[in-house]
Amino acid sequence: MGNNQQTNRDWKQETYENEKGTFTVFFDLCKGCGLCIEKCPTQVISWSENLGFMGTPAIMPRMEGCIVCGMCELVCPEPAISIIKKGKKPTPIQDNTPGK
Ligand code: SF4
Ligand code: SF4
Repeated sequence: MGNNQQTNRDWKQETYENEKGTFTVFFDLCKGCGLCIEKCPTQVISWSENLGFMGTPAIMPRMEGCIVCGMCELVCPEPAISIIKKGKKPTPIQDNTPGK
């Protein structure tokens, strides 16, 4: 299951990792618009078996080809993706810690 250690919210999420950083997707916040799939420069995002809040498939990355550029997080109209480069401190929102 996802990395829930930093939050007590019961959001369905999954964190994927490679040597460059991490990609977290909050399935419950994905509306299945496909913008991230369309804009990913390395075309490593695909549909997932997990459903988003519209009842449509959410997304997942193939981390072998992810360059952790953050484009998917930038274009996503919902806060459904969090990209964190290794060695960079996460922003308070990315850290997902209320009150920080
Ligand atoms: S961080 Fe960049 S390369 Fe990785 S999935 Fe998102 S858009 Fe694609
Ligand atoms: S851009 Fe955001 S809401 Fe749209 S499919 Fe990707 S993760 Fe889901």
